[in-house]
Amino acid sequence: MKNKKRVLVLGCNFAGLTVARFLHKEADNYIKITVIDRKNYINFIPNIPIEVFNNHNPADTLEFEFQKYLKSDGSEFIQAEVESIDSANKKVYYTPNERKGSAQENIEYDYLVIALGCKLAYDKIEGFAEFGHTFSDTFYGNEVRNYLNNNYKGGHIVLGSDRFIQGKSPKLPIIPTALAACEGPPIELAFSLADWLEKHKKGNAKNITLFTPGDIIAEDAGETILNKLLPMVLKMGYGYKNNTIGIKRIYKEGIEFKDGTSLEAEMKIIFPNWEPHSFMKGLPFVDDQGFVITDLFMRNPDYPEIFAVGDAASVTIPKIGSLGHMECEIASKVIANEILGKDEKIDPLHPLLLCYGDMGRHKGFYMHTDEWWGGKTSILKMGYTPYILKMGFKTMYQTLGGKVPSWGLPLSEIVGDHSII
Ligand SMILES: Cc1cc2nc3c(=O)[nH]c(=O)nc-3n(C[C@H](O)[C@H](O)[C@H](O)COP(=O)(O)OP(=O)(O)OC[C@H]3O[C@@H](n4cnc5c(N)ncnc54)[C@H](O)[C@@H]3O)c2cc1C
Repeated sequence: MKNKKRVLVLGCNFAGLTVARFLHKEADNYIKITVIDRKNYINFIPNIPIEVFNNHNPADTLEFEFQKYLKSDGSEFIQAEVESIDSANKKVYYTPNERKGSAQENIEYDYLVIALGCKLAYDKIEGFAEFGHTFSDTFYGNEVRNYLNNNYKGGHIVLGSDRFIQGKSPKLPIIPTALAACEGPPIELAFSLADWLEKHKKGNAKNITLFTPGDIIAEDAGETILNKLLPMVLKMGYGYKNNTIGIKRIYKEGIEFKDGTSLEAEMKIIFPNWEPHSFMKGLPFVDDQGFVITDLFMRNPDYPEIFAVGDAASVTIPKIGSLGHMECEIASKVIANEILGKDEKIDPLHPLLLCYGDMGRHKGFYMHTDEWWGGKTSILKMGYTPYILKMGFKTMYQTLGGKVPSWGLPLSEIVGDHSII
């Protein structure tokens, strides 16, 4: 078909690959999809801890190439660094990054989908490079693996988040304010790390103190779940510290918080502030931090051809992949409806937390709740099934190249809500 609309997708990790594949499914012959990312593989971040605790380098098992899926859809891929977005002229400037010295190019779009995620601001935490650990990419995951297996002396471990600075704008829908970007990982790690310590005869839950900048850790899990989870965590012997306000610095013997207190610790496992990329700040379609302003159909109110999905979108609170996945389904349907002149009814984003966490020994937890957003759903289950679902999602995502069928999430909700062993 002539005069196909060009949909330009920036970023190709979870949100970018998923939206590109859904767009192809929804509008196939009517669009030309171009995807830009600086790397040509997916980093399957949520499973990094599981690989680390099984003594695998996560880079060997969790990076998978996506180009064959884009190619089979007929989508074009450009490996390049995105450098700026000119929304007035509908152009994106980028520099190919296969070799140093490439000249800057630009590309025009009819629709732009921003799926660039965020910068994880470890560089703003004094002492992190020397004394900090984390699990948010394969490099850091492998550092933890090496430390645990070769250097860990059985000392205390602190585990928690720096203060997240959520973006504000009067143009955003009303959503709750989060003081930490994503506290599922510290909760999950508390369980799976305690299991690793026990298995390796190096300690147990008592070695670990969880901390949070907020009143309560994992606030987005809602009151009902937290009333069950927190007493259980305390009974197991974990230390717990709230209202730290943020991290002031980390040093060899411990961590100092912005509330003036400190904790001694051999290992400091940290999740930082999720910050928008510096080139996003100040653009005419972002909030005061640089996250992309959208409505609940993932569309910018001032630039209707601009959409955002995943961590880069202001409304993705907390910064979790399952929200991004729902946003990708919505954005691709909205764009397809418009291009194809269809009238298919699309529901706006109904934010909720859908989360599977590893607890060690092939068990996991499952949370399904919208209570924090004012809803009534609140389900917490623990057992073998959530672990199977977590591993199953990774296999399905890798096998289908991000094209998880529309029944994928609802089916895992049904299994998670009703059939836990
Ligand atoms: C340890 C950990 C565990 C987690 N566990 C879960 C979980 O169990 N469930 C869950 O739902 N969520 C989980 N999350 C959150 C989840 O990983 C993120 O929400 C998800 O990765 C966001 O996807 P995204 O595609 O929006 O952004 P990203 O995954 O950050 O991808 C952004 C992409 O954009 C590219 N990019 C960025 N800037 C540029 C540029 N200038 N030029 C070119 N390319 C660029 C990057 O290379 C990358 O491919 C976890 C996070 C962590 C850290």
